[in-house]
Formats: sequence, structure tokens, C-alpha cells
Amino acid sequence: MASLLCPSSTARPGAALFGVQTATGQIEYLDEPVIIDQTFVDKARQGRAPEERFRFASNCAKSGCGHWDSGQAGCSLVGKIVDAMNRKADDTLVACAIRTNCRWYHQEGARACASCDEVVRNVRTQETLALAG
Ligand code: SF4
Repeated sequence: MASLLCPSSTARPGAALFGVQTATGQIEYLDEPVIIDQTFVDKARQGRAPEERFRFASNCAKSGCGHWDSGQAGCSLVGKIVDAMNRKADDTLVACAIRTNCRWYHQEGARACASCDEVVRNVRTQETLALAG
């Protein structure tokens, strides 16, 4: 199986841009992911941190990531997020171009997608986890 994608990746060349934050702070998902290059990263870093305005996906680093739970062989972050958000899974999933390979969806299914549009790396994720204690 192809490597699953982390949907909370940083902006770096080769990452897939799949969502853009709207004026209301939620995420609008692109119809197709866009692989970003160094030029995009350089321009995006001239403003507010790109991870606060966009969503990027890249291969899950597994044991190379601090959120990896080797006992569960999965990402520990998504479980904390869905528990903290406590949102009911929508009957109709939002269209998302990376779902087939998304680690969070793979682990938590529709519950992950129900919380995902609020998550912006380094900002809301931290707030959510802080609230969760
Ligand atoms: S959790 Fe759902 S909405 Fe979020 S990136 Fe994965 S598939 Fe897309």
C-alpha cells in the first residue's frame, strides 16, 4: 500500500497543498491537490506562516514524528483532535482530494473529516489540545 499522507504537514517542496483557509477561518478543500515547490514556499513564508493559512499533506513520517504511537501503530494526534472537538460525523463527507490516502481518515473515518476543517497546524491544533488538557 502506498504511504498514507499526514494532512497536517508543513509547507515544503513536494508537499501537496489541498486546502486554503477562508476568511471565516475554516478550510476550503481544493478539487485537486497542488504539489508545491520552493518558489511557493518562499513566497508563502513572506506573510503569515503558511501553515496558518493553508493545509498541506505529505507522507506520514511514522516513527519519525513525535505524534506517532508505536504501540497503536498510528497517529496519536487525530484521536486527540476528534475527542476534543467532539463533533458528530457528517452523513455526507466534505469533498477532499486526499481522502483515499489520508492517515487521519484511515484511522478515524468520518469523525476525522468532521473536525478537520477547523484544524490549522500550529494554531488551532494547539488551541484544541490545550482545551483538551
Ligand atoms: S481527515 Fe478527512 S477532510 Fe481531513 S484531510 Fe483527511 S480525508 Fe480530508
